[in-house]
Amino acid sequence: MSMLQDRIAQFRNMTEAEPEDELGHFRLGQLLAEDNQHAEAAKSFQRAIVIEPNFSKVYQLLGLSQKQLGRVAEAVETWTTGWRVAEGRGDRIPRDEMAKLLKEHGAAIPEAPKSTEDLGPETGFKCHRSMCAAGRHAVQLPAPPMPDPIYERIYNEICSACWKDWLNNFSFKVINELRLDLSSEFGQEEYDKHMYEFFDFEPPVKA
Ligand SMILES: [Zn+2]
Repeated sequence: MSMLQDRIAQFRNMTEAEPEDELGHFRLGQLLAEDNQHAEAAKSFQRAIVIEPNFSKVYQLLGLSQKQLGRVAEAVETWTTGWRVAEGRGDRIPRDEMAKLLKEHGAAIPEAPKSTEDLGPETGFKCHRSMCAAGRHAVQLPAPPMPDPIYERIYNEICSACWKDWLNNFSFKVINELRLDLSSEFGQEEYDKHMYEFFDFEPPVKA
């Protein structure tokens, strides 16, 4: 089995063990799309949206898979909805990506809502993670979680809510469900790979 097939199998297991985990369905969808299995990818993305309709980045990818399947009208509809979700949450990167896709397909970009009152004050810290739920309320960590360059980077680019989400919700899942042995080099590498993915960092370079 190739690496990609392995990872697809891993995430299939993960979504079966945790069917309500939108992130698992999202990652599975990404891997299936990478493997050109767009019909299956679309199903995973749709599942993620059913669980978490505010997960704006998923609409972008769902639309791309629908487009690959020749379902362009559906893709435009997905991006239009996704654009609204992203705009409402202050998810600037997926919002702009979807605006670009809509434009490329000759579709109108929805109007931005006039009132932003209930969004509260901006903190000024921009979290790098595309599915960050904090949006404009993102708060920086008080310090790097550990003395290591990658944790320095997390401190500089990732908000405290995303870090907590990784630590409390996802890292254990990765360890338990993939049965990683962190004392082994392989286990540590796999763990890092998932952590980088979680934060939307490019994959770690092997030393
Ligand atoms: Zn964040």
